[in-house]
Amino acid sequence: MWIDTHAHLDAREFDADRTSVHQGARAAGVACCVIPSVEAANFDTVRLLARAQQDAYALGIHPLYTPQATESHLAQLDAALTAHRDDPLLVAVGEIGLDGFVPELNTPEALAKQQQFYKAQLKLAQQHQLPVILHVRRSADLLLKGLRDTPVIGGIAHAFNGSLQQAQAFIALGFKLGFGGALTYDRALQLRRLATELPLSAIVLETDAPDIPPHWLYTTAKQRAAGQLQGRNEPAELPRIAQVLADLRGISVDTLATATSANARQALPRLQ
Ligand SMILES: [Zn+2]
Repeated sequence: MWIDTHAHLDAREFDADRTSVHQGARAAGVACCVIPSVEAANFDTVRLLARAQQDAYALGIHPLYTPQATESHLAQLDAALTAHRDDPLLVAVGEIGLDGFVPELNTPEALAKQQQFYKAQLKLAQQHQLPVILHVRRSADLLLKGLRDTPVIGGIAHAFNGSLQQAQAFIALGFKLGFGGALTYDRALQLRRLATELPLSAIVLETDAPDIPPHWLYTTAKQRAAGQLQGRNEPAELPRIAQVLADLRGISVDTLATATSANARQALPRLQ
């Protein structure tokens, strides 16, 4: 039994066949998916989708959505966290964080706004006693600084691709690190080394569906230019991604499934 700790199942890529994607996940042994929101406009969507599918969800404003976000969206987040505090499917504040990769988001002004929303949402997580799901892209040190200033009960650094030292700093703050399709690529040497060296107790699995396709779904720029679509990632891919990690670590998939599911529940205590 697997837990996909990060799947954007509300994305429009799933509009045509969302029900069969859900059924495919269950058939593949993925017992639960965590559906993070990205902006105030999809808070209700992820909550209702999680309820309909008996998955879990998180509420937050993603750093890539901060340019259009306003103070009133933070107030909406606070209100939603209060309104649904007894909903067992609400497991975290997320997806929040900082993105140090996208140039438009890293002008002094845009970065200040990212920081403003990150800090405000850490405070909300603190007040509501919820863990956080973090977007980490060339931003690990800044994220860690924020967590030291505004400690939360823990959570997941999703799609982690930092150094071992940064990973250990997150672990020391009560976090698990999310790994997925990126480690299926032979050339991902540093990421593979990290996923192999970290204690098993620090790892959770995720697809980040529909993004981060594993290598068997990936199409090259040339193939795309020739009209082939980029493969869509989905939760049903999780066991095959996990098999790659189990092989890298030299453990059985059963051991990996048991450990990572327990880790996910530790990171997100409301997850059943
Ligand atoms: Zn995400």
